[in-house]
Amino acid sequence: MTATILDGKAFAARMRADIGGRVARLREEFGIIPGLAVVLVGEDPASQVYVRNKHKQTVEAGMESFEHRLAETTTEDELLDLIAGLNADPAVNGILVQLPLPAHIDSDRVINAIDPAKDVDGFHISNVGRLATGQKSMVPCTPLGCLMLLRDHLGSLSGAEAVVVGRSNIVGKPMAQLLLGESCTVTIAHSRTREPAEVCRRADILVAAVGRPEMIPGTWIKPGATVIDVGINRIPAPERGEGKHRLVGDVDFDSAARVAGAITPVPGGVGPMTIACLLANTLTATCRANGLPEPEGLTV
Ligand code: NDP
Repeated sequence: MTATILDGKAFAARMRADIGGRVARLREEFGIIPGLAVVLVGEDPASQVYVRNKHKQTVEAGMESFEHRLAETTTEDELLDLIAGLNADPAVNGILVQLPLPAHIDSDRVINAIDPAKDVDGFHISNVGRLATGQKSMVPCTPLGCLMLLRDHLGSLSGAEAVVVGRSNIVGKPMAQLLLGESCTVTIAHSRTREPAEVCRRADILVAAVGRPEMIPGTWIKPGATVIDVGINRIPAPERGEGKHRLVGDVDFDSAARVAGAITPVPGGVGPMTIACLLANTLTATCRANGLPEPEGLTV
């Protein structure tokens, strides 16, 4: 068997174009421009790249992008003051604080200071609780992107055996909640799981969010399963030249693609979906803030 490749890059491009069209109509009909504020504290190189991409795609979608780049030495109180200002600013519909924050800042305190209605990352405790209890919420962008790819490929997920490998608050746990919401039978595997290969082989839907390069081989995959690889791991690639690197997922793509029914590549799978879903959440937050109908098909 050779798996269908789930092209997240193309899917995300279609989503961004669709969002851009809806943003243009909001502007024309109501004079509303969705605004996304991104806060970056410190100089973490990976975070700098993410924030740059978010800014570029926000602007391309016709939204307002407010960037706040703060020094590594920024205090927690200074950051909380900034968040309070963004909460009160009507031009700001979405607020994203880029993680990780420097060690001297309590991330939970900062995230929970964001107005839940503007929490486009979906990490505020109130949005986490809402998702867990099946209420309307802001859904974390990466799991939302995974769900969109799954729905697009499979249609109904009802009754499927789903295994999520990884139990982080930003990917694994909300992914499991979303799959439960789709009426899957959900198992969460983690570093203490016994017989992980057997657990994974039960999965009709396997989501890997571990952060370990190519940890899941084809032999762990049920024939015909749909595999969503969230992992982004940078590994040395001497074959490309000295000091070069390449990106791989948590799944060993070549062996997995021979067994799976469908699989996301890395790069070009889940990654591009994350920013597209951030824009989707910003548009959803804007519509809710203005008493307009929810944009269809952009959230759960
Ligand atoms: P975390 O490090 O927060 O969580 C990793 C999870 O994997 C933990 O729950 C851990 O278990 C589990 N784990 C670690 N080792 C094993 C193992 N040997 N077997 C089974 N489970 C294991 O990572 P994140 O959730 O933040 O990210 C996961 C990956 O996804 C990373 O590669 C990250 O770069 C990528 N990512 C990609 C995004 C995208 O846009 N595509 C967005 C966010 C993340 P335990 O809890 O027991 O320690």
